[in-house]
Formats: sequence, structure tokens, C-alpha cells
Amino acid sequence: MLGKMMDQPLLISSLIEHAAQYHGDTDIVSVEADGRTARSSWRAIAGNAHRLASALEQLGLDPLDRCATLAWNNRRHLEIYFGVSGAGYVCHTLNPRLHPEQMVYIVNHAEDKVLFIDRSFVPQVKQLRADFKTVEHIVLMGPRDEDTACEIDGLLFYDELLDTANAHHVWPTFDERNPSSLCYTSGTTGNPKGVLYSHRSTLLHTFGANQPDGHGLSARDTVLPAVPMFHANAWGVPYVAAAVGARLVLPGANLDGESLVKLIDAEQVTMSFGVPTIWMGLLEALKKTGSTAASMQRTVVGGSALPPSMYAEFRDRYGIDLIHGWGMTEVSPLGTANQPLAKHRHLPEAQREQLRLAQGRPPFGVQLRVVAANNTELPRDGKTEGNLQIKGFWIVDTYFKADTTSLTDDGWFDTGDVATLDPDGFLVIRDRSKDVIKSGGEWISSVELENIAIAHPDIANAAAVAAYHPKWDERPVLIAVAHPDTHITEEDVIAHYAGKVATWQVPDRVVFVDELPLGATGKVLKNRLRDAYWQILSHNSSG
Ligand code: AMP
Repeated sequence: MLGKMMDQPLLISSLIEHAAQYHGDTDIVSVEADGRTARSSWRAIAGNAHRLASALEQLGLDPLDRCATLAWNNRRHLEIYFGVSGAGYVCHTLNPRLHPEQMVYIVNHAEDKVLFIDRSFVPQVKQLRADFKTVEHIVLMGPRDEDTACEIDGLLFYDELLDTANAHHVWPTFDERNPSSLCYTSGTTGNPKGVLYSHRSTLLHTFGANQPDGHGLSARDTVLPAVPMFHANAWGVPYVAAAVGARLVLPGANLDGESLVKLIDAEQVTMSFGVPTIWMGLLEALKKTGSTAASMQRTVVGGSALPPSMYAEFRDRYGIDLIHGWGMTEVSPLGTANQPLAKHRHLPEAQREQLRLAQGRPPFGVQLRVVAANNTELPRDGKTEGNLQIKGFWIVDTYFKADTTSLTDDGWFDTGDVATLDPDGFLVIRDRSKDVIKSGGEWISSVELENIAIAHPDIANAAAVAAYHPKWDERPVLIAVAHPDTHITEEDVIAHYAGKVATWQVPDRVVFVDELPLGATGKVLKNRLRDAYWQILSHNSSG
């Protein structure tokens, strides 16, 4: 016997229908390719998503065909998210910052049929067009423009496609386990791997990620996703915003601090999402412009570790609560979010702050464990480090087109992160397993060394990497960026570590650079730094 309740598939089309029906008048603000701010609404986004679905059907696509995007966070991109998946095709967000060879590999591997592009990507696509073997249609996300039409053969124009489409289109119904979107991991070694989300996993993530102790978004929020829509579906924010009818502010291409401050103040943004480097830029801009981002209440920070000094500065100077989260493309992406438990309410402030700096605890829908190399579970004592594994309703099973599952024999996904868990499930990411510095058989957390460096008032950013050492195998080296007009020296930084870590964990060298190399999703490319500085200690090491 089965339960006697409605059996309605969990489809992405239901999200946009809900937003249109119950939050139709709510604004969608979008910074367009030409820098202007355009205003739309959930009702208009839904109307255009339907038109797009109908236009794609008219182009003769088959169900499950991949439609790629090369685009910033803007309203047409949002329409594509819902129109493509709603119609039963797969929305494949491409990361424009990828190396051209990787981009070609990904487009061909995904067998993308349609490619939607923002105007700024015309030169890039023109160059790679011949290498995209499966792309049949390239669509410029804007109105017709004769100059651009001459640049790419057969170029279609988004607004024109929609003009000729059927406004009375009806969403199809299909199996909720069908694929809805595709995102390749920015993998630093080997070929990128595709994570193929399903309608079901996306909807369960929407419910799960938006619990009050997770994203906690509501119809009263104005949300600015400063995380790109090509980074793990902007951490699911477009779907959650539709589900709750939040007002969205899509910032376009400019994610520098000053552009964000202007937008936050002009649109009275209450909540945002982004990687720490984005918030470092925002802090600089707040100091420079004198704005206090008064409307902003909270911000989800993830993608790499939240530096403790940043948490305190946002809270104490601007009254903004930073919610530390951990996730990955394979995890849709939310794995944990950091909100205290009731029993933490009466803890001394310093202890509470220490807890808030952790990566947080899993929402219902996700389970975590730490294991030793032989896959046996380690104690949840907040001290024992191990490989972090995850299981749940929105976690990858098998990479796109891979022959075998990526799970352990007992059904867990190994994240490649090294972490501790405490008895309440609070997660502390000690490092990426590749980034741990292994000195004389002991492990040094690169994240911890970076957090200490970044807390120094003269240091803007820093990365700790392993360098080869003839006696200890590896020793830490800090690559740092100083704030302009400061005169901090290597000795100052080394002295700054005194009493904060064991003496054998203090970096052997500090190298100042103008900027750190950032990867496609705004994270520091530590592998590149490791390669560049691997030999720095080999010539003059004594200890
Ligand atoms: P990606 O799939 O590109 O988003 O990368 C996922 C990886 O980013 C994770 O496996 C972690 O190594 C890292 N990461 C994400 N969030 C955090 C965080 N809050 N603290 C430390 N590392 C993080």
C-alpha cells in the first residue's frame, strides 16, 4: 500500500510559477551589460521564461539538450535559468574566467546545443566558435544589433526570439529525477568534472538550504547575490528567492567593492552572498566611501574560509552579521551554515565568536562524518582531524558521463577537505587535503596561518603554501599582499605569529606580492603559488 497523498513531481517550473502567482509585483533589479540598472518583476521574469521555453522548442531542441550560458548575474540569465530547466532542457552555466582550452573541453563534453552569451563575451566566442563542435545556435542576450550580427555567423538575438515565441506556453511535466542544470567543477588538476543536478535535488536543496538557520531568506529581503550565477547556481539563491518571493538585485559584471556599495545603498539590500575576497573589497570600499551599508543585515560567506578579523569588523563597525557557510559544487552547494544553538546564547562573547567562525553545522537533508585514510569513522570531538565525507538529498552521486559512481562503498561522497566535527555537528575545515602543509610528519593548516596574517592591520590578503625543505619535507611560506602605503616587513609578520601558533608552525618566509592569483570563482590559486615558491627554501635552509 502507498500513501494517499498527491504525487506531484518536484519541478523547477513550480518555483517560477509560485513567484509569478504570489510575488508577481516584487522587483527584480538588474545591472545590464551597458551598466544601466533595469527593473523587472517576478511576473515578467516568468512570462519571459515561458516565451524562452517556447522559442527553444521552436528551434527544434530535444528533451534534455544542454543550453549553455556565458553570462553575468542579470535578469535575462535568471529567465534562462527557469525557461531552460522548466522546458525540460539542461541549463549549463559556463565559467567565463576559464582558460579557453578548458572552456572548449567543457562545451564539447557537455554537448551544448545552444549558447547564450552576454555582449562582453562576443570576442571570446568569436575566437572559439569553430572549436565548439556541438553548438548549433548562439544567442546574444539582448536586442538585435547589426554590428554584433556581423561578428558571429547566424547569431540570434534573445529579445527577438522572445518576440516571436508563444506567450501561452505551458510547462511540461516529467520525471523529477530528470537533469535540470549542469555545472563543472573548477578542478585544479585533470579535466573539469560535470555535476548534473536534477529537478528533485534542486527543489530539495531549495527547501533545505533556506531553513531559518541556513540562508533564512524571506519575502521581506532584498538579496544581492555577489556570487556569480556560474558558481554552483549562485549557491541556489535564484531558486530560493523565487520560492520565497524575495526581491533580487542582480549586480551584472562589476563585483568590485565600490560598485557593490553603490548598489547596496541605492537598492537598500538586506542580504548578500559571496566569497571572502568579495567582502574584502567591500570593506575597503566602505572605508573609502564612508558608506555604512546601513540597510544590510547579513551576508552568507563561503567558498573559502572566512577570516576571523573580517567577521569582527563587519559586526562591530557595520552591524552586519556574517553567516559562514561551507559547500561545494558537488553539494548543490550548501553543506553547512553557521548559526548558534539555544545553549550557546549564554556563552561568553569570545566563546560564541569562536563558534561562529567555524563553517557551521549541516541542515536537515545533509549528513557529515570525518574518517581516517582507511575510511573508518573518527570521533566527533572537535579535535580529531580527518577526511570530510557527506551524504544527503542534494549531493552528487556520479559525475556527468562518468562510468562509475564517486561514492565510497558505503555511499558517502569524499569532499577532499580535511576537517573536525564537534558533538553538535559544528564543522571546522582545517584545509583542503591538497593544501595542508606537511612539515616533518606534522600537519600545519594553511587556513590558520592565513587567518592570522589577514588579521594584521597592514595585510590585505595572504596565502600560506608548502615549500620544499630538505629536512622537513615541507615548510610553510606566506605570500602576502600589504595594504598600500604601509611599510610592513617580513620580520614584522613573523613576529606577529608569536604566541598565536606553535613556533614550528610559523612560516619560514614571508614574500610580499602586489596581488594573489585568483581562480575562476574568486578563490586564491594556491597550486600556482605552490609551484612558484616550491623551491624558495631549498638554497638557504639551515634548520
Ligand atoms: P567549489 O566547488 O569550487 O565551490 O569548491 C568547493 C571547495 O571550496 C570545498 O571543498 C572547500 O575546500 C572550499 N570551501 C568552500 N567553502 C569553504 C569554507 N567556508 N571554508 C573553507 N573552505 C571552503
